[in-house]
Amino acid sequence: KGERLRLPPWLKTEIPLGKNYNRLKNSLRDLNLHTVCEEARCPNIGECWGGGEHGTATATIMLMGDTCTRGCLFCSVKTSRKPPPLDPNEPLNTAKAIAAWDLDYVVLTSVDRDDLVDGGAEHIAKTIRILKDMKAELLVECLAPDFRGSLSSVETVVNSGLDVFAHNVETVRALQRKARDPRANFHQSLAVLKHAKAVYPTMITKTSLMLGLGETDEQVESTMKELRDAGVDCLTLGQYMQPTRRHLKVEEYVTPTKFLHWENLGTKMGFLYTASGPLVRSSYKAGELFLKNLVQ
Ligand code: SF4
Ligand code: SF4
Repeated sequence: KGERLRLPPWLKTEIPLGKNYNRLKNSLRDLNLHTVCEEARCPNIGECWGGGEHGTATATIMLMGDTCTRGCLFCSVKTSRKPPPLDPNEPLNTAKAIAAWDLDYVVLTSVDRDDLVDGGAEHIAKTIRILKDMKAELLVECLAPDFRGSLSSVETVVNSGLDVFAHNVETVRALQRKARDPRANFHQSLAVLKHAKAVYPTMITKTSLMLGLGETDEQVESTMKELRDAGVDCLTLGQYMQPTRRHLKVEEYVTPTKFLHWENLGTKMGFLYTASGPLVRSSYKAGELFLKNLVQ
């Protein structure tokens, strides 16, 4: 106990950036847009911005500031009970910048704002509405908070014109208390995903699990089954990485073979796609996977 696990070789590889990456990087200048991809120094930036064989470039943008009202034990985002007020110009300015950028698929995510009456749902929805008005062909995924279970907030976001509604359950049912802020839980997150699907049945829903927090194989399997039974369409599984020593320890580095096993199981269970691998993150190659698996 107390010892930190060594980083396995499959997490040390260098990832090439490619020319599409450079194009996107150069066109980002002057737009005053802050991407999670760059700020979190995400290892997938070459693949996501590069767009793969379909040339579908994906990036993630954070809305509603950099300070969260929650404090999940795996997350390095700043916490405060009373973050600064929302910037009323953010929906228009962000939408303008994203529309001007040479992007095919955008993931809009946010901190949790339990200090706001609607959890920020209208602010997020407004950003999406403006963005879709400006650039209808851009695919938009919203990685939404749980809005403390408020179904009307979920509806506000779901009805904004987005293409994919994502909400992360983060870890297996059994480890929710260990990893997530006490205001979050599996039941509430599942209800959010179910409601999104019920409101708009043809819209794609998506969730993510981090592995390596001490979960058992049985727990992963039963959690996947519960998600599928709840009608969740897409699933991503990735390795949990400890952001600082103050955060939850990594209990296990799950092998690439095991990740492949979960990917195959997800396919067998009937998810429209399952992206599973040590470096996979919730928004990993979202645009490419969308086009490959969801457009007939
Ligand atoms: Fe950006 Fe998400 Fe891709 Fe990382 S996985 S580069 S954060 S879109
Ligand atoms: Fe981080 Fe999201 Fe938890 Fe806030 S709610 S601490 S942003 S994981």
